[in-house]
Amino acid sequence: MTHSTDSNQTLFERAKALIPGGVNSPVRAFRAVGGTPRFIQRAQGAYMWDANGRRYIDYIGSWGPMILGHGHPAVLEAVQKAALEGFSFGAPTEREVELAEEIIRHVPSMEMIRLVSSGTEAGMSAIRLARGATGRAKIIKFNGCYHGHADSLLVKAGSGLATFGHATSAGVPPEVVQHTLVLEYNDVAQLEEAFALHGKDVACVIMEPIAGNMNFVRAGVPFMRRARELCTQHGALLVIDEVMTGFRVALGGAQSLYAQQIPGFRPDLTVLGKVIGGGMPLAAFGGPRAIMEQLAPLGPVYQAGTLSGNPVATACGLATLREIARPGFYEALAARTRALTDGLTGAAQAAGVDFCADSEGGMFGFFLLPRLPQNYPEVLTTDGARFNRLFHGLLDGGVYIAPALYEAGFVSAAHSAQDVADTVALAREVFGKL
Ligand code: PMP
Repeated sequence: MTHSTDSNQTLFERAKALIPGGVNSPVRAFRAVGGTPRFIQRAQGAYMWDANGRRYIDYIGSWGPMILGHGHPAVLEAVQKAALEGFSFGAPTEREVELAEEIIRHVPSMEMIRLVSSGTEAGMSAIRLARGATGRAKIIKFNGCYHGHADSLLVKAGSGLATFGHATSAGVPPEVVQHTLVLEYNDVAQLEEAFALHGKDVACVIMEPIAGNMNFVRAGVPFMRRARELCTQHGALLVIDEVMTGFRVALGGAQSLYAQQIPGFRPDLTVLGKVIGGGMPLAAFGGPRAIMEQLAPLGPVYQAGTLSGNPVATACGLATLREIARPGFYEALAARTRALTDGLTGAAQAAGVDFCADSEGGMFGFFLLPRLPQNYPEVLTTDGARFNRLFHGLLDGGVYIAPALYEAGFVSAAHSAQDVADTVALAREVFGKL
């Protein structure tokens, strides 16, 4: 065996011997872009340092949660204090109530909320609740939207609207996904046809309001309006998955932005994660009292968790939410994010590279395409090899973006104007060599 001076590589070899692919979540493995994943040793503010001691400007932010940047002093203090009081009690705490109050204050479509430990758990539980509350089996999801890895949600489109989906993962029997219908995102006609065919059997429509798992694709206002109308007409629930967008694109989540354009708009159920835990394992789902009271112990829909509402996680989430609720927070975050996407767009144009970008609050996406895509097949027209060269060019220069072209990016309040300027200067060089 040759001795490597690259600590990332050494750690990766050790990891691969014991952990499948060397990682505990697939996208971390750099399979799409190639190369050695960076093993992160520590992070502070907008930066992360790898096992070789190299610094990166972090535009992943733990895939969304780190909206204040790493190691924010108020959050750190809250977590340290909570840890001293105890890690986990398996009994209710005042902090869970405070966090519920804080979330509901900003997202009023949620009259009641249940805390869980991951977005997957929250999405899975919301689906069970929708089915339990409506007494129906079928669910509609959209191609390219991700709602966690619950069996019934790991589905790609079937051959037509009359047929249901196929599992995208081994280990999911066809019977488990036979009630999941997968439609194209932003396709109003398909949604209308699906409801015409299956309306009385549909328990819910679940969607990302800004799809961050196909980079960054907004649900158009007419599409969202029609989804709301069709759900109401057919007695199905509209489930908005704000795991990524909640407290990230605006204090009231993406639903608050749609409500500005669609009078009276509100989802039936909302799924949250990421930012509400501030980097600790914490997620939630919630909605109207009448639906939420269907959950155990009040109602017949079972749902539970040993570590749900964990006292250290809720301390982290509460401290985070209190910081981001300060006046002007989102205006500043959105302006910094826009400075980044505008800078990257200018750098790409100067190099004659097809490029387009979009952002909302502290969430952004960019494509090596001339126009913003509206659905997953359009996202897939991106030249993957070109994206990989861009990714490695940026990484080698100390800028860490998501290692896959299907992922949104995140700017935190810790990213300075200088960080953005440094990123754009590097991008200008990299675009020049694409
Ligand atoms: N929903 C959305 C919109 C997500 O982006 C994710 C994770 N990226 C999930 C659900 C699943 O969350 P988790 O990884 O915490 O299980």
